Amino acid sequence: MEQERTEIASLGEFGLIDHLTKNNETVQAGTILSVGDDSAVIDHFGKQTVISTDMLLEGVHFDLMYTPLRHLGYKAVAVNLSDIYAMCAEPTHITVSIGISNRFSVEALDEFYEGVYAACRRYNVDLIGGDTSSSLKGFVISVTAIGEVAPDKFVTRSGAKVNDLLCVSGNLGAAYMGLQILEREKRIFLESPGVQPDLGNKAYIVGRILKPEPRADIVNWLKEHEISPTAMIDVSDGLSSEILHICTQSGVGCILYEEKIPIHSETRDMALEFNIDPTTCALSGGEDYELLFTVKQEDYEKIARNEQISIIGYITEKEENTNLLTKQGNKHILKAQGWNAFSEQKK
Ligand code: ADP
Ligand code: MG
Repeated sequence: MEQERTEIASLGEFGLIDHLTKNNETVQAGTILSVGDDSAVIDHFGKQTVISTDMLLEGVHFDLMYTPLRHLGYKAVAVNLSDIYAMCAEPTHITVSIGISNRFSVEALDEFYEGVYAACRRYNVDLIGGDTSSSLKGFVISVTAIGEVAPDKFVTRSGAKVNDLLCVSGNLGAAYMGLQILEREKRIFLESPGVQPDLGNKAYIVGRILKPEPRADIVNWLKEHEISPTAMIDVSDGLSSEILHICTQSGVGCILYEEKIPIHSETRDMALEFNIDPTTCALSGGEDYELLFTVKQEDYEKIARNEQISIIGYITEKEENTNLLTKQGNKHILKAQGWNAFSEQKK
């Protein structure tokens, strides 16, 4: 079937912005002025404002060969909201800026924005502006997320104290294994274009890389149960790198138990098929967008009741260093390997 293709040039920059935002609806009481003026205006009614911004570059952060544009739009928003939740704050607004070449049609951008708006609806945030520019070749996306938090209730990376429990939500390493599957199917496709991708029963891990969800549920649950984490960060580069951020910025050390690291069975199976140690996936794979945080010992009972949270270790004095205690009982110093561990391009 021939797909319709409307050239961006036929709308022009302002026509395109109007086209992409004409159905934009806002739901936040604090949205005083949205798209259409020189600036947007928001009110956080006495709360503090948190802001985070991220850039996504085609060929560096995403590959359009296996990333549907709708998923990309959703993910671009989701990963930014994850940074807001990682402050224990509530996201309220986003701006979306894009750099596009004439390779893209208006229909392609519509798909991208379907994903953007879907994430906005899912997380109750308003799109209040952005910027649109031409790029020579690749697709450039920059999202800024804005959120609110009760005065001084935001949680930084630097508040972890000796004896605090080290906790993580969900499971780790799945997105990295999902990426390995997509990369493998891409190579097979490039070699023999007739072959259909075999994603078989890999839906979970492929979903984790293509459509991550920020852990709003965890932040809300902590609030409902009156648990104030002492430090928090979202897991975008792999567990060891994030643990090191918390430990360095808090001036502490830690013990991480390998056997406590939560890994999904699909991740484990796939890792073994690829001859990768599942623990390495969790430690050094990225893009899980889970929350890593520390809580006081006295919150143990409450935390232990939430099946979505694993207690994976505890905080020690800085002098004791950052340690991984393996299943065999050996102690290793944790290193941040990021994607380098797999000789991938470092983000
Ligand atoms: P200015 O020249 O003042 O920067 P623009 O023409 O770039 O204004 O933008 C006009 C309005 O459209 C502004 O409210 C801006 O935030 C919004 N806007 C521009 N591009 C986008 C986009 N890609 N998505 C959402 N809103 C956008
Ligand atoms: Mg502008």
